[in-house]
Amino acid sequence: MSADLTSLGLAEARDALAKKEVSSRELTSAYLAAIEDATPLNAFITVTADHALARADQADARIAAGEGGLIEGLPLAIKDLFCTDQIQTTAGSHILEGFKPQYESTVTANLWRQGGVMLGKTNLDEFAMGSSNETSFYGSVKNPWRRDGDSANLVPGGSSGGSATAVSAHLAAAAIGTDTGGSIRQPAAFTGTVGLKPTYGRCSRWGVVAFASSLDQAGPMTRSVRDAAILLRAMASYDSKDSTSVDIAVPDYETALTGDVKGLRIGIPTEYRVDGMPSDIEALWDKGIEWLRSAGAEIVDVSLPHTRYALPAYYIVAPAEASSNLARYDGVRYGLRVDGEQLQDMYEQTRAAGFGAEVKRRILIGTYVLSAGYYDAYYLQAQKVRTLIKQDFEKVFENVDALLTPTTPTPAFGIGERVDDPISMYLNDVMTVPANMAGLPGISVPAGLSSDGLPLGLQVLGKAFDEATILRVGEMIERAASFDARPQSWWSAS
Ligand code: GLN
Repeated sequence: MSADLTSLGLAEARDALAKKEVSSRELTSAYLAAIEDATPLNAFITVTADHALARADQADARIAAGEGGLIEGLPLAIKDLFCTDQIQTTAGSHILEGFKPQYESTVTANLWRQGGVMLGKTNLDEFAMGSSNETSFYGSVKNPWRRDGDSANLVPGGSSGGSATAVSAHLAAAAIGTDTGGSIRQPAAFTGTVGLKPTYGRCSRWGVVAFASSLDQAGPMTRSVRDAAILLRAMASYDSKDSTSVDIAVPDYETALTGDVKGLRIGIPTEYRVDGMPSDIEALWDKGIEWLRSAGAEIVDVSLPHTRYALPAYYIVAPAEASSNLARYDGVRYGLRVDGEQLQDMYEQTRAAGFGAEVKRRILIGTYVLSAGYYDAYYLQAQKVRTLIKQDFEKVFENVDALLTPTTPTPAFGIGERVDDPISMYLNDVMTVPANMAGLPGISVPAGLSSDGLPLGLQVLGKAFDEATILRVGEMIERAASFDARPQSWWSAS
């Protein structure tokens, strides 16, 4: 019974609730049991079981009364970067251990207003800095997937790895994450799930622990493109508390899923054929092109000439903003405090003990590129490059409706394999970062398996505020790929 209930994605569970075939309490209990059974995956930092069951009962009462929001009674996993009122919010960091916000982020408040039920807070790379979830103070998350015939544990990607694992292993009907340079799309690709980064400004950043404010964006992580459409509508809003939030009506994205891509012009950017891309990823990309062509889309070769500078420029801009955003963690207001003789000692000791190695590296890099002697040479140059990247996209989008690329240059890798090599870790983001630099929406859809049996994703990038088109194209790819592979549940004790 409970295994059957956790097999329902967001849309299916919504319809089953509406038909009264199941209650939110039953769904929520089934997921809480699945989470407990999946403790070895380490996907959650905090499980909010009592809170979830109380919310589920309220949702059931509303459904019985014929009321209820867009996602009434649906159990969700929330990346532990979203502040949740009175519920510990760690950002994956020791420095925020025990921090209980006095407020709710706008995105999660929107979800609760629409009836969503929070199962718990998911694990992530510390302050969302990472591509593998190995920088979390709360330990690595394990990918539910393993290579064929191999019991080595793989990373789920990052930084939203806990959310991706929760969706992939059916520990939640859906989840939310954030994406600063790929943190929704890359873990989605690594776990065989769908991840959508909306346009910068579509979802409010208010109450989301800030990493790089000009790049951060919240978005849905789901089992299907339809589920992503449902969840995006529920979480998006204009918010006067976020000065970069944009006041554009949020459409009903589900109606965009027409199954028709005839006449759409899809660009294939040459620059994404990166050196050393494995042949199975190249072949999957070609398949994706064929699927869209045979569905009636027009395929156009395009060029985004500044793509190769996106990653180096990102790794200047993101640490620069992070170094400034993280200055607030001084032991006075939030979480950890390590006392010292003088105030200055307290600051130093708190930050030394509270931040992990990757976060310290980013603060050092960020402080360096913003310092008086180097600002012009690094930070200013990177901002100029960012403008050129944005202009590349603007030019291409005069002529095409969406772009198709792979999401990542490799499938999931082993835990520990890259942790000592930051450059190879950073290279994970080579295909996802340009959309963040330009503020554009992107979706990763599972489209096939690698030669060793791991999920691979295709990425669709769109015009600003045109999430509807990338969802439509994404759904077409989902249909053509009919990806129904599932990880073996090796983690389960039952
Ligand atoms: N992997 C990238 C980084 O480490 C992106 C992280 C993210 O999108 N939050 O910065």
